[in-house]
Amino acid sequence: MATSSYLAYRDHDFVQALNLAHEALDILDALGETTWKPQLYNNLAMIYGDLGERSLSWTYLDKQIRLSIELGDRQSEAIGYHDMALFQVTSNLPAALVNLNRALDMFHASNDQRNIAFTLYNLAHVHFHNQHAAATALPLGQRAYTLSKQLNIQVLIVNNLCLLADIQAALGAHEKAQELLKEAEASAESQPAALMAFVAATAGRCQLLRGDATTALEYFLHALAITEAHNARELMHEQLEQLAQCYELLGDYRHALHYHRRFVEVREQIYRADSEQQIMALEVVHRTQMMQREAELAHQKNSELQRYIVELEAMRNTLQEWSYRDHLTGLFNRRYLMEHAGHLLSHAQRYNENLCLIMFDVDHFKLINDNYSHQIGDMVLRRIAQIAIETLRSTDLVARYGGEEFVVVLPETDTASGALAGERLRRAIERHSWADIQPEIHLTVSLGMVVLQANSSLEDLLRHGDDLLYEAKRQGRNRLCY
Ligand code: GH3
Ligand code: MG
Ligand code: MG
Repeated sequence: MATSSYLAYRDHDFVQALNLAHEALDILDALGETTWKPQLYNNLAMIYGDLGERSLSWTYLDKQIRLSIELGDRQSEAIGYHDMALFQVTSNLPAALVNLNRALDMFHASNDQRNIAFTLYNLAHVHFHNQHAAATALPLGQRAYTLSKQLNIQVLIVNNLCLLADIQAALGAHEKAQELLKEAEASAESQPAALMAFVAATAGRCQLLRGDATTALEYFLHALAITEAHNARELMHEQLEQLAQCYELLGDYRHALHYHRRFVEVREQIYRADSEQQIMALEVVHRTQMMQREAELAHQKNSELQRYIVELEAMRNTLQEWSYRDHLTGLFNRRYLMEHAGHLLSHAQRYNENLCLIMFDVDHFKLINDNYSHQIGDMVLRRIAQIAIETLRSTDLVARYGGEEFVVVLPETDTASGALAGERLRRAIERHSWADIQPEIHLTVSLGMVVLQANSSLEDLLRHGDDLLYEAKRQGRNRLCY
């Protein structure tokens, strides 16, 4: 995908290139793979650079350099400095030169001849065109030329020859410039037409410097013919401007005006095409950012939902718990008893285990309410629940059955153990000191206990238990009947 992006970039399909590069980045991110990222950052920087998105381009070059340093990728780091320098040429010339030299040193260190040749050419170019230091540029350009010859990089050979011709012409060595241009023309023959146009335009410039506007004009017209045939707007734009200048120098203002108008026209076209590309690129950037944001949001929503579900679950459990609890005492309520004691019964019946059910009721409880208040009555009921819980086993089910009536289900308990448990509870309540609630209180309970039979239902046990409880009351209260 990174390669496809690069190919799209080469084809000037910047939007496609951007899309692919961003997609490739996403995949690398997903894989946690970093090795290829510096290269991809460089691609993105180049694409954004061509789209005029200088700050994004800068950002990606910066990323490229940082990651290259982190990964110890000296080659990519050097390329980063080199490309960054080309950006800095118009804004910060000294920094551009520092970066180009830094890149050159690094390429030397790794003996990367190809990149040395390109960097030398760029250094010469910057010294000549931006620094206007022809004398400094000359040896650099010559070294670049020699190296490009050795490596047989045709495009670089032609570019170097043109640069050297420009430099020689600027230094007044017009014959030398002509020689170089002849060689350039010969080298460009087998190359893309744009390169030939570039040579012709350079020849025109050299002729202008020499003061021969007529010959310059011929070269520029030749260059224009080539670029028009190939619709190379960037070059055309340059040539139209030079042609307008040429005609002006020659005093042909009608033609000068004509080419000037065309120059303005092409500049507009370039600007429009650029902004169209830029808008499309911005759309891609925007879309990419939106997708990232959406993914983040979805992730956030997901975890929010997850939290919400957990909360709901907890709430549901709490509600369920509440619906099974008696609010005054905290014991299980009658509903829970009716829904769950059945399970205990059938389990015991299936495994032939013993089970006892005790029903107990506070003796003369009405008097507590009447003598001390309903609040005290409530406190007493809560305390009785507490005593029952403390006295009985944790596996026993204790429920508030009605006002001051309670039911206890004792699994795995036979008659003797059940009677002991009931007796223990009765004694605990009889002996309890109520001093902290009301010192004069003395309380007892009456209990009825039944043992599970093979065919008895919960209702049978409750009815029978109630009968025995009534029997205990009848026998004088504060006792257990079974
Ligand atoms: P016995 O020994 O025959 O059981 O006499 P008792 O007075 O306990 O029986 P009775 O059924 O006559 O009275 C029960 C009383 O319990 C009547 C009712 O006001 C009271 N009661 C029921 N539920 C509550 C409650 O939640 N809080 C309070 N404070 N009293 C309650
Ligand atoms: Mg009672
Ligand atoms: Mg009662």
